[in-house]
Amino acid sequence: MRGKRTLIKGATVITLDPGLGDFDVADLLIEDGRIARVAPALEIEDAELIDAASMIAIPGFVDTHRHTWQSQLRNIAADWSLTQYFTGILGSLAPTYRPEDVYAGNLLGLLEALDAGITTVLDWSHIMNTPEHADAGYEALVGAGGRAVFAYGSPNALWGEGLDAKADWSDLERVRDTYFGSDDSLVTLAAALRGPDFSTIDATADDWASIRALGLPISVHIGIGGWGQRSIAALHERGLMGPDTTYIHCSRLDPDEYAMIADTGGSVSIAAEVEMHMGHGFPPTGEMLDAGVRPSLSVDVCTGIGGDMFGQMRIALATQRGFENDAALKAGHTPDSLRVHARDALEFATIQGARACGLDDRIGTLTPGKDADIVLLGTKRLNMSPVNNPVAAAALAASAINVETVLVRGEVVKRDGNLVHRDLDRVRRLATESRDYLLEQVGAETGGAWMPAAYVPPTV
Ligand SMILES: [Zn+2]
Repeated sequence: MRGKRTLIKGATVITLDPGLGDFDVADLLIEDGRIARVAPALEIEDAELIDAASMIAIPGFVDTHRHTWQSQLRNIAADWSLTQYFTGILGSLAPTYRPEDVYAGNLLGLLEALDAGITTVLDWSHIMNTPEHADAGYEALVGAGGRAVFAYGSPNALWGEGLDAKADWSDLERVRDTYFGSDDSLVTLAAALRGPDFSTIDATADDWASIRALGLPISVHIGIGGWGQRSIAALHERGLMGPDTTYIHCSRLDPDEYAMIADTGGSVSIAAEVEMHMGHGFPPTGEMLDAGVRPSLSVDVCTGIGGDMFGQMRIALATQRGFENDAALKAGHTPDSLRVHARDALEFATIQGARACGLDDRIGTLTPGKDADIVLLGTKRLNMSPVNNPVAAAALAASAINVETVLVRGEVVKRDGNLVHRDLDRVRRLATESRDYLLEQVGAETGGAWMPAAYVPPTV
């Protein structure tokens, strides 16, 4: 017996599937949450109709690294360096987090993401201070209604206990066994590890072994600011690299380390906007492409920046073009052409994100057989009109205000510009109450005056 059918009618469709191509006008048939057909003028009688005339259909965005638990601290760290962020957020506020603060942040952050067309967020959750924090974080991810990867990190305190501090992953095993028995859940599980930037290579090897014994993928910050010296090489030397690992930032790698990622099949998450703001080093988009690694993109922290992928695409593309144009100018000639294109940015934000999350067989392109995670961008607003290049309109002109309708596995989570989540007032209230509580604990106020001291790293 056939289940629910939905027909998206009359959209410009950017499938990002090279075998399928793009359509000036086509329909998407969804059956039981999956894309069944993409073709012009489908004649379907018994389907719920979504009129997508003058809309651009793209795959849902995938954010491969966001500390969602911090969402209620939006813009608190707007003018902080990375070392001030370590002191202010991780050193001061994180220890005061209660389970309900993790819940409030995750719920707000996931819904904010859905509102902006991000159908999948890898929630990099290094706030697992107690089992109740983990339960609350998971509950919010499920409650928001989007797709998420719950990247379970260690308790916040572990990061300050010294580089050789040993992590205890027994609660992660409990979480896996309690919540992740089913293969078709919208929320999947991964591990968020310190890695060699923030722990000794022996402690890193212990973490890697524990997580692989649990059968989970790994996500790790690496090559960051002054911490990231030869960290990839250290992993490589110990034989720890593999296709199950996503390397975040990679801003301070040596040339041979890019090849190590490529050779071992790992994926990369670039948070170009945060990297440019806070002192990680430059986004290595071009170096990754040179090595044969197509990166994904991530928001990282809403404590500083906005939470949509449109900004990430624009900044990743602009910074890489800026580096290449500057190199040409310094070599004495004005650039003749641009290497990285708008379509690349859109792929980074979708299919490459899906690959980094291990979900590319389910999402990331509008391919029949994949789950229907779909964003419809309206083009009637003046910032999108007239459409002369749909890919560029999606990657470089659009903003969250153009996200009209969002589907996750065939279910509409945003319709006609409005989230369908039942109680956004509650989401705002929980976030505000949590924000008030957290700032009170550290004697800080809103308004931008709080400037923490720079962080002093622990030693062995
Ligand atoms: Zn991060």
